[in-house]
Amino acid sequence: MVRALYPGSFDPVTNGHIDLVQRGLALFETVTVAVAANIGKQALLPIEDRLQLLRTVLPRTERVQVTTFRGLVVDFCKQNGYGVILRGLRTIADFEYEYQMALTNRHMRPDVETVFVMPSVQYSYVSSSLIKDVVRNGGDVSAFLPAPVEKVLRARLQASP
Ligand code: ADP
Repeated sequence: MVRALYPGSFDPVTNGHIDLVQRGLALFETVTVAVAANIGKQALLPIEDRLQLLRTVLPRTERVQVTTFRGLVVDFCKQNGYGVILRGLRTIADFEYEYQMALTNRHMRPDVETVFVMPSVQYSYVSSSLIKDVVRNGGDVSAFLPAPVEKVLRARLQASP
C-alpha cells in the first residue's frame, strides 16, 4: 500500500499533469498532488487558484488528494507517510535536473524513493511555462489544458499580462 506524493508548482495544471496522476493511480494506492508554496520560480497564479483548479480537474476519487507544502519534499513525505515521490519525465531536458534532485533527496532520506513516469506522447512536450507564453500571445492551447484552467489563465493574463 504505497502512497505517492506528486510535488510541483502546477502553474497551472495541464493535461500532462493529469495524465501523470492517472498513471500514478495505476501504480499506487493514493496520489497526493502537492503544490510547493516556497518555490524559487515566480508563479503567475496564486496558490489558492492552483489548488482550486487541481481540485476541479483531477479525477474525483478519494485516492487523489490535493494539498500544499513548504520546505523539503522529503521532510513532508516523512511527516505524512509518503513512501514515493512521483515525478514526470518528458524529454531528455528534464533528466539532468530530475536526476540531481532525486539523488539529493535520496541522500537526505534514503527510504523515500523517486519514481519517474512518462506521459502520453501527445503531452510529452507540454509545459506550464510554454502554455503561459502561448496564451499571452493569443494562441490556442485547448489541446493541452482543461477548459476551466484555460479560462482562469486567460483572465489572469488579461488582468496582468
Ligand atoms: P516543478 O516546478 O516542480 O517542475 P511543474 O508543475 O512544472 O513543477 O512539474 C511538476 C512535475 O510534473 C515535474 O516532475 C514535471 O516534470 C512533471 N510534468 C510537467 N508537465 C508534464 C507533462 N506534460 N507530462 C508529464 N510530466 C509533466
